Amino acid sequence: MLFSDFGLSEPIVRAVVDCGYTEPTPIQIQGIPEVLAGKDLLAIAQTGTGKTAAFVLPMLHKLSEREELPPPTAKATNKPTKVHRGAIRALILAPTRELALQVEASVQRYSTHLRLKSMTIFGGMAMSPQIRQLRGRVDILVATPGRLLDHLQQGNLSLSQVEMLVLDEADRMLDMGFIRDIRRIISYLPQERQNLLFSATLIHEVKGFASSLLQEPTLIDIRSSQVTADTVAQMVYLVDRERKHHLLTHLIQQAQNDQMLVFTRTKHGADRLVKQLTQEQISAIAIHGNKTQAMRMRALSKFKQASVQVLVATDIAARGIDINQLPHVVNYDLPDCSEDYIHRIGRTGRAGANGKASSLVCGDEYSQLRSIQKLIKQSLPQEVIPGFEPSQQPPAPGKPTNKGRPRRQRRPAASAPSHGNLSPTRTILKDRKQRTRAVT
Ligand code: AMP
Repeated sequence: MLFSDFGLSEPIVRAVVDCGYTEPTPIQIQGIPEVLAGKDLLAIAQTGTGKTAAFVLPMLHKLSEREELPPPTAKATNKPTKVHRGAIRALILAPTRELALQVEASVQRYSTHLRLKSMTIFGGMAMSPQIRQLRGRVDILVATPGRLLDHLQQGNLSLSQVEMLVLDEADRMLDMGFIRDIRRIISYLPQERQNLLFSATLIHEVKGFASSLLQEPTLIDIRSSQVTADTVAQMVYLVDRERKHHLLTHLIQQAQNDQMLVFTRTKHGADRLVKQLTQEQISAIAIHGNKTQAMRMRALSKFKQASVQVLVATDIAARGIDINQLPHVVNYDLPDCSEDYIHRIGRTGRAGANGKASSLVCGDEYSQLRSIQKLIKQSLPQEVIPGFEPSQQPPAPGKPTNKGRPRRQRRPAASAPSHGNLSPTRTILKDRKQRTRAVT
């Protein structure tokens, strides 16, 4: 199948060809016709599958097709606005700044031969440059929920002409406690619109939210029996915690010049690891929620330009990182939340390329390893590297484990808004995690 078979306009197909895409991915094959037909969508697709193009390409087609027509009459709950210049016609909500930036970069690439204008807004930056940009033409707005709500409440923009709403990584947004913000944002939208919800997992909360938002949606679930991409070779290295850093150095040396994205559980752990690697003459940089937005963007751009070999990241900060041809992801610590494993290793092996995901697992992480294997329905191959033998052997399947130190709760994300208390969804998820821990 070719992109031209979808009936997308010539400038869009040309932009896709410019990107070097030869054929659509499964989520694009299934999603693009549905979006073009005006259907609401509930798409379960893990990261790296080409899901952004699956909603952006048909969105651009529809918006540019109707560019010359007057905007549709809004049956909106029109909240008062002080400034109402541009007509925002599509709104894409993303959980993190990095993902918002990445999605907008895709919008720009795919709309390069069109007249449509896009913009990103997120927290951690001054409001005024965003307000100035909002006064100009903006057809497609990509935003994180907290900052968008701030702008709406100040009357800096109107969403009364929005024809399409996309919630990207909805599971993550709900997990981060954005549900109330999202509901408030939705109250600023016209009732008649197309809604597209993308999520890596179909957790209970996503189902509930989807049923309140979507009208007769088409469900597309492109997870195969394996949750992780076949293109990622996964390996578990058993090692003692205090030897992890030496094993990582060993893997980096083996990888020669290959770049690596390394995940740690805590911000402090990320900083400490960067310091240790730097002392060993390995170029490394950290990206996490304690860094300013400018520092995060600088770290990402250095890594993208390959001027550093290792990027050490925490989960929230890493969400949305899209680096072409990233060959190797390392879990220095296993994530507390098993779903994060899927998101982490989805950074490599994207769009058909081959990738490697290595996890350094010590004795007090065996129960997390079991939860991950249960989730991905795979038993991961394990290896002990000579010289790094662990003192504790992995338990036989079924035996209770983890007498190790208690794990800490995930803190709210740096970009999470501070409006009010925890949302019911967040509370449910916390309970769920606590229950999970109690039985492992
Ligand atoms: P996403 O899942 O949207 O984050 O996309 C992951 C990566 O796949 C991005 O780097 C895209 O540029 C790339 N990509 C998207 N669609 C295709 C395609 N049809 N062929 C090759 N690469 C693609």
